[in-house]
Amino acid sequence: AQVSTAEFVKSSTCTEDCPAGSLPDFALVGRSNVGKSSLLNSLVRRKRLALISKKPGKTQCINHFRINDSWYLVDLPGYGYASAPQKLRINWDGFTKEYFLKRETLVCVFLLIDASIPPKKIDLEYAGWLSQNQSLHLDFLQQIPMTLIFTKCDKRKKKKNGAKMPEDNAEDFLNLISEYFQAAPPWIMASSVTNMGRDEILLHIAQLRNY
Ligand code: GDP
Repeated sequence: AQVSTAEFVKSSTCTEDCPAGSLPDFALVGRSNVGKSSLLNSLVRRKRLALISKKPGKTQCINHFRINDSWYLVDLPGYGYASAPQKLRINWDGFTKEYFLKRETLVCVFLLIDASIPPKKIDLEYAGWLSQNQSLHLDFLQQIPMTLIFTKCDKRKKKKNGAKMPEDNAEDFLNLISEYFQAAPPWIMASSVTNMGRDEILLHIAQLRNY
């Protein structure tokens, strides 16, 4: 399940603008600074590719990358920018959330959570939103398929102030969202520094594509 080719396809400003066709979308979303571009780099092993989504103007877009000519890795706008004015923040949210509800070819949302810090309210709320809304395209009233990726799991230095280890932060997060889900969502521990989790993520995508 390795990446042999990865090409940037387009930046879209709304769901209707996204690439047409039947290739499945696997989307990455997370709070700004969670390590989304680093993970994208690590998955496709091309530094320049992820830089595309970091260019001014594109951070607020839906960026499609075609992988192995058979599926899309989709970089969604980050949320929770501390510096963004409130009105702009709401706008980005609406924009991404519309994509979750309307994108017919969306197979899975990877919600990135920083495991080097304790659970954050905004991430819990985001997971809650995903659990409470249904894609308009699924036949049954189903939750939007979501897999959690815990990032920065290499950060394991014991700190004097008693900061927790990544697996403890991940466990706390899973406990806090458990009330939203009948069954816990799948989750993967990852690091872009050690490439931990990379093969597992690609395997997960391969398995979902074969359904
Ligand atoms: P984005 O804003 O979500 O795209 O986040 P970036 O990929 O730009 O990463 C934000 C910061 O976290 C940068 O300083 C990265 O070097 C750092 N970072 C990202 N991923 C990891 C990781 O897996 N481990 C560690 N230790 N740092 C990371």
